[in-house]
Amino acid sequence: MPQEISSVLFRTSVRALTSHRCSRCRRTPLVGELVHELESGQHVCTLCVGRVPANQGGPVRSERIHASERRLLVGPRAA
Ligand SMILES: [Zn+2]
Repeated sequence: MPQEISSVLFRTSVRALTSHRCSRCRRTPLVGELVHELESGQHVCTLCVGRVPANQGGPVRSERIHASERRLLVGPRAA
């Protein structure tokens, strides 16, 4: 049973690392960086979005890379 859990955790970690990888340069974007989804369905980083050929379409959606799957809570500053 513990071995099954470790394999699930391993697959989840690998998937999290590779899910937002740039289709052009294969780089994994840094936390806080934007990843753009093109009309063709490919995901490209901010460095590559300006070099995408016109036949692959422009960006239709952008998503910021977060440090974890859960968003960090942001509250008002204390006076
Ligand atoms: Zn790239």
